[in-house]
Amino acid sequence: MKKMICITCPTGCEMEVLCDGNKITVAGNRCPRGAAYAESEIKDPRRTVTAVIHSANGKFQSVRTNKPLPRPLIPGLLNTILQKVYPEFEPGAVIISDIEGTGVDLIATGPAR
Ligand code: SF4
Repeated sequence: MKKMICITCPTGCEMEVLCDGNKITVAGNRCPRGAAYAESEIKDPRRTVTAVIHSANGKFQSVRTNKPLPRPLIPGLLNTILQKVYPEFEPGAVIISDIEGTGVDLIATGPAR
């Protein structure tokens, strides 16, 4: 039995998740999205990554992934992007496409400042 809080909406349901082989049973969720969240957290946890990268001329630029990225890939992505200096990108521009073949892109979210 694992306790988990659903972060899909502000309600924050406290759930109890029981894994029995491939079968996952969820209790405490107020809607089906909680069960889907719990299953995703057990089988394929993902997060949207936000960060600030170094841009030319000593500026910084905010970035994020356009979709949640598998958690095991997040440290590698951060190590890569935090050690480089990038040119300035227009907000919304794709900085890295299809990260590790996941179909997830890293995009600029604001102007370099
Ligand atoms: S289970 Fe449903 S109601 Fe509860 S936090 Fe998740 S999305 Fe919100």
